[in-house]
Amino acid sequence: MPEEQRARGATLRTEGMPLGPLNKATLTTEPVEPSVRPSLKQRLCGGPDGSVEGRDETRERARALGISTPLYEPFPGVLPGHEDRARLHPTSAGFWQYFCPELGRGIGLAEVRAFLGYGREMYVRGPLAARWSEHPDYEAWLRWPVPLELDLPEPCPQPARELAAWIATFVGLRDARWPLDEPFVFGHDFAQAYTGLTADRVKAGKSWLERARVLHRRGTHGRAILWILEAQLHAATRQRSDTSQEQR
Ligand SMILES: [Zn+2]
Repeated sequence: MPEEQRARGATLRTEGMPLGPLNKATLTTEPVEPSVRPSLKQRLCGGPDGSVEGRDETRERARALGISTPLYEPFPGVLPGHEDRARLHPTSAGFWQYFCPELGRGIGLAEVRAFLGYGREMYVRGPLAARWSEHPDYEAWLRWPVPLELDLPEPCPQPARELAAWIATFVGLRDARWPLDEPFVFGHDFAQAYTGLTADRVKAGKSWLERARVLHRRGTHGRAILWILEAQLHAATRQRSDTSQEQR
């Protein structure tokens, strides 16, 4: 990834994204894209030279989830409401799982992140699992969002600013195979779990962003509203014109 993009991703991260305590929310809304395994290759970037070799990515992800104990060793459980000891183990399929007695099963790191976000056990599958696996990768600095330039009219209230930055991150972290202007579902409960913002701040933020034409409705997916950021439309237009110039 070009240095400039990484820098802008990093700016977005510090401006709008509290990385502090995770909020406790309930329920979920399924994002809309077809179920695909996230391809990390296109946006992975590890060390300062952009390489991913030689880094223990699992340890980085674990650290982002609040686990600092060496892999395989037991540690105090990080799941809300759990007071047991847990372990991280690789499965035969090559994925790392979190095991603890109170769960009685192994869960993937995306599910751990969703559990932390919602404050309760979540079965995340398909595209939702992809969104929740991108989240700790982002927090572990293993994955950067495609930068989207948000044009927020001033004065912009803080909840709207934070929510917009989170939505841009959520959209930018999606697999690069999806067009930049692909609409998305960002349901109320999912938004709280993903961003750590309270229900009131999500509601106020969304409503302000819609009135300010930063965020638009693009139909529905089942009962969920489909959204698109104005910044996605601009980025997609720019991308198309860059591509056609390259082809000339
Ligand atoms: Zn536990």
